[in-house]
Amino acid sequence: MSLLGLMQKRSLLISGLLTHAATYHGDVEIVSHLYGGEERRSNWRTVAKRASQLAHALPSLDVGEGDRVATLAWNTDRHLELYYAVAGVGSVLHTVNPRLFPEQIAYILNHAADGVVFFDLDFGDLLVKLAPQLTSVKKYVALCRPDQMPALDLPNLHCYESLLAPQPDQYEWPALDEETASSMCYTSGTTGNPKGVLYSHRSTLLHSFGICATDGLALCARDSVLLSVPMFHVNAWGIPYASAMCGAKLVLPGSGLTGDRLYAHMVKEGCTFSLGVPTVWLSLFQYIEQNAKQLDLQSLKLKRVVVGGSAAPRAMIEKFENLLGVFVIQAWGMTETSPVATVANLLPKHQGIDLQTRFDVQARQGRAIFGVEVAVFGAEGQRLPHDGQSVGEIRVRGPWVLSGYFGNEAGSALDAQGWFSTGDVAYIDPDGFVQITDRSKDVIKSGGEWISSIDLENAAVGHPSVQEAAVIGVAHSKWQERPLLIVIKKPNQDVTPEELLAYLSERVARWWLPDDVVFVDELPHTATGKLLKTKLRERFKDFKLSTDKA
Ligand code: AMP
Repeated sequence: MSLLGLMQKRSLLISGLLTHAATYHGDVEIVSHLYGGEERRSNWRTVAKRASQLAHALPSLDVGEGDRVATLAWNTDRHLELYYAVAGVGSVLHTVNPRLFPEQIAYILNHAADGVVFFDLDFGDLLVKLAPQLTSVKKYVALCRPDQMPALDLPNLHCYESLLAPQPDQYEWPALDEETASSMCYTSGTTGNPKGVLYSHRSTLLHSFGICATDGLALCARDSVLLSVPMFHVNAWGIPYASAMCGAKLVLPGSGLTGDRLYAHMVKEGCTFSLGVPTVWLSLFQYIEQNAKQLDLQSLKLKRVVVGGSAAPRAMIEKFENLLGVFVIQAWGMTETSPVATVANLLPKHQGIDLQTRFDVQARQGRAIFGVEVAVFGAEGQRLPHDGQSVGEIRVRGPWVLSGYFGNEAGSALDAQGWFSTGDVAYIDPDGFVQITDRSKDVIKSGGEWISSIDLENAAVGHPSVQEAAVIGVAHSKWQERPLLIVIKKPNQDVTPEELLAYLSERVARWWLPDDVVFVDELPHTATGKLLKTKLRERFKDFKLSTDKA
């Protein structure tokens, strides 16, 4: 019989992160850029006090244990307070991506059965439009001061600062079971409806340890972090939690992710670490290159930048190094993996290698961090060797990898051996570095956000002159990919690209609109009648989009 250890069984709780940060890093600043351009300087001690005030106020909004609380919000200290207060009392913070098409937002608010929505003022009008379709939301809270309260036609509209003001700033955080759900994010729903991923206190803390580990993202108390990944995108890659664990300074840029503002924050706040999707960095470099004469690049303290969400282009890795002396850490993961799963850090054998070879290493998606197992499987479900050439689907398992989607049974998203299939296609080299070669889904990644080719095709074939339509992603120097619409016209019918785009503009989000339309006589299909996207991508791989000025 095994012998049990005699160590304390203390739950891994998100409230513990906040208490630790307030106790040991209380003066460390949290700088926010709020609606209307206001800058606010808080710190971990104040965040803990205000999260306590919010926790006291939640029952007045009928928020109880297990209830979902939605946010439509940018990166600010108020959003950070919500992260901690909602999870801390045993409720679930549901961060909603405001860039989704409004109908998808309504769908996920209803699916999650959110009772309250906390929103930044930019999203007031959107919520007024959606409110009649929302089946569970009973209360709305505007993230502002009383003097900023908007006149919105929303039932039970509250002011965030007025809710907090009368409340005590100490809260006895409950000793929850560490498996309690703490937050949720929906996937982008490219095949069917979006699906909810429900994180737990335990998964969140273990993921945070991984981020703080030296061969994770090495986040530490000496870092000043520019959080240029939205707090509605997989919990901003876990940084709001990991920063409390190690006591890092946070710079929260609100909605402003333009190159000029990112640069200004980096200089002013002495940022040493940042992270974001490739598009964010393209806009930073555009700003730096356009203003090279006026800028003193030596004044930057930036040392490490994490690039993920899409492949980090090698040229970007090179530019960071050569222009700014910054080491790019490529990371791979997904909503279902919390998200960090693999990280491209260097091994002893890479020390002292020439820069070009080093960039090749960094251009890969990296190696599994402890806690995540990563493997590649072939078409017959056989495990493939790590030989640097056997290409298959990546499967993952680990304590911060999803087990089942919200509303389904635990384990329902896994195979018999507990693996979760990611839909990404890759090979793994003998050192364990993953290289993504493709993705099995045909999603179009534009600026770190996903555009569903199927939704666009379905909308396009609704036009009376369209017989068949296919949408593929075509490389774009600013947005990574943009949609190209390929259409077969019905016999004896005519339609112009402009007419088609005008038709689509009434049916899809503006930023989803294809950049170009091409007419063809036939489209390639698979044996089961599905569009053969691989062939189309091959055919249009050199297509130059009219919107791509590079
Ligand atoms: P999301 O769930 O929105 O975070 O998207 C996850 C997907 O983004 C993954 O399944 C990959 O297809 C893609 N992805 C994330 N990071 C990388 C990366 N470093 N390189 C290539 N693709 C990536």
